Amino acid sequence: MSLVETNPPNRALFSFEVTARQGRARTGLFRTPHGDLLTPVFAPVGTSATVKAVTPAQLQELGATLILANTYHLYLRPGDETISQMGGLHPFMQWPNPILTDSGGYQVFSMADSRRIDEDGVTFKSHIDGSIHRLTPEKAITIQENLAADIIMAFDECAPPYDRTTNERAVERTHRWAERCIKVKSRSDQALFGIAQGGIFHDLREESARFISELGFPGNAIGGLSVGETKEEMHTILSELDEILPEDKPRYLMGVGSPEDLVNGVLRGVDMFDCVLPTRLARHHAAITRNGRINLVNAIHQNDPQPIDESCSCYTCIHFSRAYLRHLIIAKEMLAATLLSIHNLHTLLQLMQDMRQSLVAGTFEAFAAQFFAAQEHIQ
Ligand SMILES: [Zn+2]
Repeated sequence: MSLVETNPPNRALFSFEVTARQGRARTGLFRTPHGDLLTPVFAPVGTSATVKAVTPAQLQELGATLILANTYHLYLRPGDETISQMGGLHPFMQWPNPILTDSGGYQVFSMADSRRIDEDGVTFKSHIDGSIHRLTPEKAITIQENLAADIIMAFDECAPPYDRTTNERAVERTHRWAERCIKVKSRSDQALFGIAQGGIFHDLREESARFISELGFPGNAIGGLSVGETKEEMHTILSELDEILPEDKPRYLMGVGSPEDLVNGVLRGVDMFDCVLPTRLARHHAAITRNGRINLVNAIHQNDPQPIDESCSCYTCIHFSRAYLRHLIIAKEMLAATLLSIHNLHTLLQLMQDMRQSLVAGTFEAFAAQFFAAQEHIQ
């Protein structure tokens, strides 16, 4: 199969090739300056340049390839210029593999009470010290160039999913801002992805996906999903976007990462995901399994010699009982968050690997059917 070049100025640095398909699902190879990503890929989230409670060495051992870091948080602390002076995110946080940064837009737009939007950008108040800052498309790109991730995101407006008027305005603004991001981007060793918006409105989603696709980004993201709409609405929109977004470029569903959402996304042609879920749940004492969640605080686990999941091959499940994990949580020991994060990350990364392998083997549809049948059985 021929290698599809996705961005002429970055010819040597980025490329994406679909290597096998089944239905709408696909597996492929996305080349970046810091290594190859086998897709579909799940990116653990390192909000402040650390995936909470795990070391980069542990992440590598878990098989993580891509991680996400947040522009909003790093701009405020320690500051993108500090990270630039330290050589960028890769040496700063000691992650040798690909990194993706978001644009900061999602965090800023989530703060309904402390931000003001205008055509040029957004003025917002820092959640750390209340100081006033301003993000524009140009500023978001400058910050991301200082952070020096491999994949960077256009600055977009994420509107509440059911608000038609706000979504109409947000889609138009997102498009104008995408053009401004392309204009100001100066580094050739970063791939800038566009973001399609439009809430739950099919005509706006279609319009946005077409507009963003036509701008010729090396990858396209689907924003504004998993923010309060129903699962059925999300699935319908993903299926519709699958028809519009270019097939020869990676598609990235932002902020999505429960096991069922990952399988549903891959079934509808998505290649990349990120989510705080595995590490956030770990800090709230919950273990993710393919058959649902287990809260290890529950007294039922007090004398339980079983691992979290007998079928799991992670470090935590090989070595530790539910009784020990519950003890660590009750005693407020830091190791609890680490061991649960290792298990939760392993569960999602292994699920992605199983999906990739079944796509190569041509058994993905059977794999997905079995996955959903097991979920119904348990819940
Ligand atoms: Zn495990």
